[in-house]
Amino acid sequence: RPKTADDVKAIVEERNIRFVRLWFTDILGHLKSFSINAAELDDAFEGGMGFDGSSITGFNAIEESDMIAMPDPSTFAILPWRPEEQGVGRMFCDILTPEREPYEGDPRYVLRRTLERARQMGFDHFYVGPELEYFYFKNAKPDNGKPEILDEGGYFDLTTLDAGTDVRRETVLALERLGIHVEYSHHEVGPSQHEVDMRYADALEMADNTMTYRITVKEIAMKYGWHATFMPKPLFGVNGSGMHTHQSLFQGDKNAFFDPNDQYFLSDTAKRFIAGQLRHAREISSIFAQWVNSYKRLVPGYEAPVYCAWSRRNRSALIRVPLYHPGKEQATRAEIRCPDPACNPYLTFAVLLAAGLEGIEKGYELPEPMEKNLYHLSPDERKRLGIEQLPETLGEAIELTAESELVLRTLGEHIFNRYVEIKRQEWEEYRVQVTQWELDRYLPVL
Ligand code: GLN
Ligand code: MG
Ligand code: MG
Ligand code: MG
Repeated sequence: RPKTADDVKAIVEERNIRFVRLWFTDILGHLKSFSINAAELDDAFEGGMGFDGSSITGFNAIEESDMIAMPDPSTFAILPWRPEEQGVGRMFCDILTPEREPYEGDPRYVLRRTLERARQMGFDHFYVGPELEYFYFKNAKPDNGKPEILDEGGYFDLTTLDAGTDVRRETVLALERLGIHVEYSHHEVGPSQHEVDMRYADALEMADNTMTYRITVKEIAMKYGWHATFMPKPLFGVNGSGMHTHQSLFQGDKNAFFDPNDQYFLSDTAKRFIAGQLRHAREISSIFAQWVNSYKRLVPGYEAPVYCAWSRRNRSALIRVPLYHPGKEQATRAEIRCPDPACNPYLTFAVLLAAGLEGIEKGYELPEPMEKNLYHLSPDERKRLGIEQLPETLGEAIELTAESELVLRTLGEHIFNRYVEIKRQEWEEYRVQVTQWELDRYLPVL
């Protein structure tokens, strides 16, 4: 793995790389890229590369549009889906203002800042392991408007129920060439649904990896003439796609979540962290589940969480703490199950961390675990147990965010204001639609 600008230049020379793509992420988590000639690398490392930020969603308006992309040499990799000869490399960038200050509209900076706060509280690492699920469909824009699946397979199915075997294999190999280690890959519960799991890493590296993962999955699918999608709930009545995220805090190489003497093997740090995420889940929901469609996934019955409780086995809970196995203290972690894979990973990891740190700082108390199927609790029982519910729509979620001091503090004023504005617009656009469901239901009888 390259570390410095000189390492990158040596690789570029040796492998005859002709172009280097500079990558960054807009406020909504879309990957943005421009390509420079390899001969410009010296300039790029020295002063960054200028670009017009005014057309990037969430960035500044026309009058402050001269932004700088500063490549991070430690992220250099060669794109395996581009030609071998005269190949293409890529680096993630930090965005700077014309005054060369970190740009407050850059999601990577939001995560950096939050990680710095964790460091000040004594945590050197926030490790995350996201499990991104996705579907393969025949087309991005199907003729009859309904996505067409490629197989009828389910969880862990094989040939002939798994049409994705080859494309998944190629995806895993491509990810490994990009320096991303893959631990698991399999057919998921839904027809034509898949999951590829990367080995956990520090949150900033993992946010970059998540961006790389999504484009890699899409690029390789496209080679087969298919469309891979991270849309949270593309098919009604079928499991949606989640991004369960396994998390732990480390002090040096010591897992701060582990306590051998606790009945759950959880330290006070872990308990308060989990309590923080449970308490703040509603106001950060519009970040980890950011689309109108995200809330079609967060409904009872499809292994996605709805209620803000934690548990050890129960997959209807918001946070699951996998059972401890002796000798595995490094693996003690909290799996938060509400994020979906169409989120902005930088902002998502930032608000997850901020909510957890809030719990640690304020010493929140962790409620009892809920081992029952939460989908089956009555509203009265939930009320008695004090179990809150995630917002049911993007509209509800964004209004909770708009009131949140925690989110404002974490995102900073610029991203916070732009985000609330963009998401309110999206909700308003959806809210006024007359849907097929309404026509089918009401037209004949009203
Ligand atoms: N697809 C489910 C979700 O939305 C998870 C299913 C699983 O991983 N077992 O979160
Ligand atoms: Mg999994
Ligand atoms: Mg899964
Ligand atoms: Mg999981």
